[in-house]
Amino acid sequence: MSGPRTTDVVVIGGGQSGLAAGYHLRRAGVDFAVLDADAQPGGAWRHMWESLRLFSPAPYSSLPGRLMPVQRGEEYPEAAHVVRYLTEYEQRYGLPVERSVRVRGVHGEGGFLRVESDSGTWRARAVVSATGSWRRPFVPAVPGQADFRGRQVHTAGYRSPKDFAGQRVTVVGGGNSGAQIAADLAAHDGIDLTWATRRPPRYLPDDIDGRALFDTATARRRALDAGREDTGGVASLGDIVAVPSVRAARDSGLLAPRPMFARLDSNGPVWPDGSRQEADAVIWCTGFRPALAHLAPLGLRSARGHVPTAGTRAVREPGLHLLGYGDWTGPASATLVGVGRPARDAVREITALLG
Ligand SMILES: Cc1cc2nc3c(=O)[nH]c(=O)nc-3n(C[C@H](O)[C@H](O)[C@H](O)COP(=O)(O)OP(=O)(O)OC[C@H]3O[C@@H](n4cnc5c(N)ncnc54)[C@H](O)[C@@H]3O)c2cc1C
Repeated sequence: MSGPRTTDVVVIGGGQSGLAAGYHLRRAGVDFAVLDADAQPGGAWRHMWESLRLFSPAPYSSLPGRLMPVQRGEEYPEAAHVVRYLTEYEQRYGLPVERSVRVRGVHGEGGFLRVESDSGTWRARAVVSATGSWRRPFVPAVPGQADFRGRQVHTAGYRSPKDFAGQRVTVVGGGNSGAQIAADLAAHDGIDLTWATRRPPRYLPDDIDGRALFDTATARRRALDAGREDTGGVASLGDIVAVPSVRAARDSGLLAPRPMFARLDSNGPVWPDGSRQEADAVIWCTGFRPALAHLAPLGLRSARGHVPTAGTRAVREPGLHLLGYGDWTGPASATLVGVGRPARDAVREITALLG
């Protein structure tokens, strides 16, 4: 059996974050490999539901070096358009992505990091973890979940309203996924929709989309970095970007939110006042958590489940960077347009480490 393969840097994950890191590593002339568990390019975008639209126009959804082309006839591009863009990006910059390689664990080994996958072992001076969150859907614990006889699906498993034709469906969640999936179902004849949200849905003003959200996140980070007063994060503006499908459903009265139910019984949700709703399916649009299980051998996680970082660098493992997981790994780093800057900063630190 052959020994470990040696390289300067291993990037784990070949979605947008891994590709942004690859772009900067290529420019820095570093030897590296990108390992990706999926068989095809596109990261999470390949798995999203059919009607999903980006919340920013194409040019505002670009990775470093290459503007996303406008999708003909669509101000807000489809997920399939993003998959095409990422596929082309990877080819254009000749990024060395090895697919169908799932990393099981990263281990410290005397100044090196050993990356063990189900297709072999790599030894590297630095690792960029860019595994996203799509593989770790989160569903809150709600009493009676196990008693419910209908179907339970998470955002990650939702594809199309056709899969729910003629059914009574309860959508849970007042964020972008909940609103978009509720709108998708509401626009489909013959689906009886209930939309349950923990607090009343907060729509952003109709003229605000992902561009303004990105600007807000950047302004806040600048203010905090400069020791100025907190300008307020994106959450202060609202939760839901009123993309055209959501706006249309909302304006025609098809989105009538109800407060969150207290529990499920075998037939469906039950509210605190005892009222009930029969349901064939519950769709949990309740978010994701960072997919960090492969870092467990390093023992770096805090009680909150995050790895403490300074910028993108793990505080207790200088060879490890975490990219694209959320604001804790760089402002707006879990977006297409936002990941470029932390990727650049991570690679700067890595090249300094490599000397
Ligand atoms: C519903 C939804 C809508 C969104 N809309 C927008 C939007 O409009 N605009 C925007 O900018 N952002 C949007 N985002 C946010 C963000 O752009 C995406 O979450 C993005 O996919 C994150 O990219 P990533 O590369 O960090 O992770 P991913 O795209 O999830 O890629 C991670 C890659 O790592 C691989 N991987 C995971 N674990 C391992 C392992 N152990 N070993 C090897 N490989 C592994 C996976 O196979 C995958 O290919 C949206 C997110 C969601 C969920």
